[in-house]
Amino acid sequence: MSQRTNRDNRRFNRPRWRAATVAFIGTAALVCQAGCRPSKPAAVAPLPARPLVLGLHVLIESKGAAEELIKEIPALAGAGVNLLVVESDYNYEYESHPELRGEDPISKATVKRIVALAREYKIRLVPEFQALGHQSWAGKTFPLLTRYPEFDETPGKFPGNEGIYCRSWCPLHPGVNPIVFDLLDELIDGYEADGLHVGMDEVFLIASDYCPRCKGKDPADLFAKAVNDLYGHIVTARGKEMWMWGDRLIEGPAMSYGVWESSYSGTWRAVDRIPKDIVICDWHYEPMKAYPSVKVFLDKGFRVLPTSFRNVPAAEALLDYSLGFDTNRMLGHLCTIWRGPKAGETSNFPALRAIARRLGRKPA
Ligand SMILES: [Zn+2]
Repeated sequence: MSQRTNRDNRRFNRPRWRAATVAFIGTAALVCQAGCRPSKPAAVAPLPARPLVLGLHVLIESKGAAEELIKEIPALAGAGVNLLVVESDYNYEYESHPELRGEDPISKATVKRIVALAREYKIRLVPEFQALGHQSWAGKTFPLLTRYPEFDETPGKFPGNEGIYCRSWCPLHPGVNPIVFDLLDELIDGYEADGLHVGMDEVFLIASDYCPRCKGKDPADLFAKAVNDLYGHIVTARGKEMWMWGDRLIEGPAMSYGVWESSYSGTWRAVDRIPKDIVICDWHYEPMKAYPSVKVFLDKGFRVLPTSFRNVPAAEALLDYSLGFDTNRMLGHLCTIWRGPKAGETSNFPALRAIARRLGRKPA
């Protein structure tokens, strides 16, 4: 069973959470502040000569979802996909911490079938584990904070997760990283991955007054610490690439973005306190004339993978805007479906097809 049955509707249909979250960050954040201007005009640029990534992010939260992915990989390759970001979070048969397995965890043997098939079809696999935020969805709290409630940034608060968007773990609790790093190692090894996506999007509970360690601290320092701790393990210790969503690193008040796809809590200042060889998946799901964060991330030296969802004109606008930057650090495009894959359907996801067409990928 999916842990997040409504997650495909996230960021578009969230009436329950919107009011609570707005209360956290203030209504002023919802409007574009004076001086927000596109950093570069939107334009349809010619395709660059460099090879571009066409990625797809999928949720694999059950054995059934994994089997659907296995069936669909040949069709995805035929549609031009050469990267899969596979998000399983706790839904893997972790051996180091079996107490943290989700309800229907994927076996190592199944992951090996995915690895073999992806290799056969020349698709890069990057597993994802949501770090820091997204430790709950609706009324359900995920295994780390149910098994180790002392790691919660707001321990004992918000029963039933009422009044919050998602729980976070505490970036200063000394017990978190040793356990989480064990899980990340198992994903890296299971997927034989050369990169790992650590999520870190939509973190609203940070520097909480309810946390004895974080109260009063700078959200940017705390967010940067969480990023740098993960980097120290994934990149420095394991020699892999680290990927993450970009929204908490975007200065919301200076750009015409909303509260979900950018930061109004100050975490964005962490962008100058983290290594620049992290791959930033810069997601924007609504049509805009410009997406200034793409330029900001590139100017700072990051590699950027702009990411779209189901709004086809928005996906095309983001891609066209991104293609205007003639640098190898603009990697291509990542599509998301925010649900598990379905055999016979996912490779025909309209936004994916539109991006593939724009990138000149020939349908099989
Ligand atoms: Zn804390």
